[in-house]
Amino acid sequence: MRKQLVATLKVKGITDKRVLAAIDNIPRHWFLDSSFLEYAYEDKPFPIGSGQTISQPYTVARQTELLKVEKNMKVLEIGTGSGFQACVLGEMGAKVFTVERQKKLYLKTKSFLKQFPYRIKAFFDDGNKGLPSFAPFDRIIITAAAPEIPEKLIHQLKPEGILLLPLGLGDVQQMVRITKDVNGNLKTENFGNYRFVPMLKNKADN
Ligand code: SAH
Repeated sequence: MRKQLVATLKVKGITDKRVLAAIDNIPRHWFLDSSFLEYAYEDKPFPIGSGQTISQPYTVARQTELLKVEKNMKVLEIGTGSGFQACVLGEMGAKVFTVERQKKLYLKTKSFLKQFPYRIKAFFDDGNKGLPSFAPFDRIIITAAAPEIPEKLIHQLKPEGILLLPLGLGDVQQMVRITKDVNGNLKTENFGNYRFVPMLKNKADN
């Protein structure tokens, strides 16, 4: 089923072999409740509780490809959710720092992630603030729809760093990649329409 999913991702235009290998190696069905086994390898998003979703595999693959992750890079992820995207980054050799604003989901995923050999640190906080004590980062990926570019995250990006986010207020967002050059100047590129759950402000204690 996983091989089939990887084949589907290739047909849909994913070309980065490292990304495809990572998806091939990670048991996505572990991230869904066991009664939903048959849905785990469909190219669809899926509810994971607390009103949140695990992103569609194509979206995870495309975001990872656009992020241009290299081994040992420090990567900040906003929106831990199920932890699947964090594992894809971990499988590619990144040092991952992931932030989730929903307490219940954070606790569940933090403990779930312990079984993997990856370098992933999970945090409970409002991702809009980033993680100042671990900054700067080579890469920052937001996996919820951001109404605006969080200014603090731009500051926590290294020179030659990349911030990738679904940007927009409405139902549909634009996948925007911001690259900081060595002088701190920003270049913005747009990679089309996506749908994410909204990035909200402040932490939620339930
Ligand atoms: N990357 C996830 C999918 C995330 S869905 C995966 O691989 O499964 C988006 C997640 O972002 C949700 O869990 C939501 O609670 C979280 N989120 C929304 N606003 C946030 C914020 N301000 N800070 C951190 N996480 C946030």
